[in-house]
Amino acid sequence: MRQKLESLLLGEGADLFGTADVSACVPERFSATPYAVTIGVRLLSAVVSEIRHGPTKLYFAHYRAVNAFLDMCALKCALFLQRNGCRAVAIPASQTTNAQGIAADFPHKTAANLAGLGFIGKSGLFVSKDYGPRIRLVTVLTDCPLPSGRMMEPLCGDCRACVAACPCGAITGRTWTADASREEIVDAALCSRHMKDKYGMIGRGSVCGICAAVCPVGADKA
Ligand code: SF4
Ligand code: SF4
Repeated sequence: MRQKLESLLLGEGADLFGTADVSACVPERFSATPYAVTIGVRLLSAVVSEIRHGPTKLYFAHYRAVNAFLDMCALKCALFLQRNGCRAVAIPASQTTNAQGIAADFPHKTAANLAGLGFIGKSGLFVSKDYGPRIRLVTVLTDCPLPSGRMMEPLCGDCRACVAACPCGAITGRTWTADASREEIVDAALCSRHMKDKYGMIGRGSVCGICAAVCPVGADKA
């Protein structure tokens, strides 16, 4: 099944594919689907490189287009699993569901990390081995038993580029560890407030991306 899914999704145009056992971290609501398929699509590097000092309308439009594409890939993956007798839930690429508007039903980066596709950086972003944070992810949860990769430890080392570049000081600079709370890595509420206050004219203040644009990992890829 893993091979079939990989060939389906890479054939659809995905750049990253991985699977993981997420039974230890999946919310109770999804406990019947303890395995994850991660699908990743690269952002256009030329568009991301323009936003080192703040988001552009072009970036926002691109961000939305990639999220829509990811949701379509996730739907195709979930329907394929269902047709093969498995339970599947597609978690939207970009949807916050908590009261504060800063967390989703399930964090895509957790599944991608457990799949061995990359690490979680000081920015709190998923950093792909190949493309850095210039990638967007989506997750399909399923009861189809799928193998995990090898979880990657952070490779940030002494780098603090994202910490220095964040215009509101939301990134604490702590290296990510599996037991760290989100707040110990990034103040998501402060980040969200800054986006609304400063970039309201771009996508109603829902994007920034500076911390992704300045990350050296994957930045040299055309
Ligand atoms: S997205 Fe948030 S954390 Fe990243 S640079 Fe912008 S304000 Fe800072
Ligand atoms: S900019 Fe540097 S510290 Fe931040 S996530 Fe990338 S490698 Fe890690």
